[in-house]
Amino acid sequence: MSTLEIRDLHVDVETPDGPKKILRGVDLTVKSGETHALMGPNGSGKSTLAYAIAGHPKYAVTSGEVLLDGDNLLEMSVDERARAGMFLAMQYPVEVPGVTVSNFLRTAKTAIDGKAPALRQWVSDVRGTMENLRMDPTFAERNVNEGFSGGEKKRHEILQMELLQPKFAVLDETDSGLDVDALRVVSEGVNRVKDNTDVGVLLITHYTRILRYITPDYVHVFVNGQVAEQGGPELAERLEAEGYDRFLAPA
Ligand code: ADP
Ligand code: MG
Ligand code: MG
Repeated sequence: MSTLEIRDLHVDVETPDGPKKILRGVDLTVKSGETHALMGPNGSGKSTLAYAIAGHPKYAVTSGEVLLDGDNLLEMSVDERARAGMFLAMQYPVEVPGVTVSNFLRTAKTAIDGKAPALRQWVSDVRGTMENLRMDPTFAERNVNEGFSGGEKKRHEILQMELLQPKFAVLDETDSGLDVDALRVVSEGVNRVKDNTDVGVLLITHYTRILRYITPDYVHVFVNGQVAEQGGPELAERLEAEGYDRFLAPA
C-alpha cells in the first residue's frame, strides 16, 4: 500500500511578465487502488498541478509538499520520480526524433526496473497490449510523437501506463479529443491496469464523459488553484447536471 500526498501546494508558473501564482494551497491524498477525479473549469490550474508533480521546469513550487510514501517527490529528478513509481505522461518529451515507440518503451521499462525486461516476454507484452488498445502493430516502429494524432498520443500514453505498471498515474485530459470508440478503448486500458495492479489514479478532466467508463472513488472540484469541494461519484453527476457555475458565481 502506497500513498501520494499533496500538502498545501503553492505553485507559480513562469511567464514573460514574471512568475504568476496558479496553485493556492492544494491538499489531496491518493492511496493505492483508489481513483480520484480532479475536475474543474478551464484555467483553474489542473494541468499546472500535473506539471508540478511531473517536475516541469516552468512550474516553481513556492511552498508545500508532494510526498510518495513519505519521500519528497519534489527533490527528485524527473527520472527518479518515474523510478519511484510515478507515471506522468507529460514528463516525457513531446517528440523524440529517431526513437521508435518500441525502443522508447523498452528504454523506459529498463530505466524504471533497473534491468532490461526479458526479451521474449516483453515483445509479447507489447504486442498484446497494443492489440488490446486496437493499435496497428506498425505503430511500434514509428518515432515517438512524430505526426501522432490526438487519439494516437492518448493510446500511446495508456500503452506506456499498461507496460510500466506504475504505483501512481496522473492522467491529464486523457479524454480530450477522443471520439466515443477511442474513449472506450483508452478507458478499458486504464481499467485493465486498475484491475490487474494496485495503481492509484489521479484522473484530471474538464468533462464528466470519461467518468462513465472509469468510475472514480472520489471527486475533487478544482477552482482557482484550490480544491473547492470533494465528494464521491455523485458529485460528478451533479457537475454534469449543473456545470461549474455555482463554484464560479459569487454567492
Ligand atoms: P487547466 O488545466 O485547469 O485548464 P492550467 O493549469 O493550464 O489550467 O492553467 C492555469 C492558469 O495558468 C491559466 O490562467 C493559464 O492561463 C495560466 N498559465 C498556465 N501556463 C502558463 C504559461 N506558461 N504562461 C502564462 N500563463 C500560464
Ligand atoms: Mg489543462
Ligand atoms: Mg486495483
